[in-house]
Amino acid sequence: MLNKAKWLAKEAGLRIKYMTSKDCIFCKIIKGEIKVEPIIESKLVIAFNDTNPVAATHILIVPKKHIESVATIEDSDADEIIEMFSVANKIVRERKLSAYRLTFNGGSYQHVGHLHMHLLAGGKIEWSRL
Ligand code: AMP
Ligand code: ZN
Repeated sequence: MLNKAKWLAKEAGLRIKYMTSKDCIFCKIIKGEIKVEPIIESKLVIAFNDTNPVAATHILIVPKKHIESVATIEDSDADEIIEMFSVANKIVRERKLSAYRLTFNGGSYQHVGHLHMHLLAGGKIEWSRL
């Protein structure tokens, strides 16, 4: 799996530094080694506030399974992907967000090599920092 991710990244000319789940910051959050205040936690997904928000609401929706990026999603990850959107749906409804954006970064735009959705809302989004 990791070899496939590295190969895909090389083929696509991506600069993303792939890492194992052992040294992955989001895996450490999922294992409780780094503390966060969960907004929603389900069997497959955790959502928490981004530490460096670029909008008034900036939530990360993260699968508990270590999937590196959009480029490495496999059919077997379908439950995690559906659950990520289900969590986004709950947050948007519960907070009655009238305008929002869901973003996935990849390649050189992605800084944490563990798939995550950014849920952004409120005020001006500082895209240059995302
Ligand atoms: P990306 O550039 O799409 O990989 O975004 C990674 C995001 O993770 C950035 O917006 C960071 O601010 C955020 N981030 C990194 N470490 C943490 C952490 N410990 N808790 C919450 N957010 C984090
Ligand atoms: Zn991870």
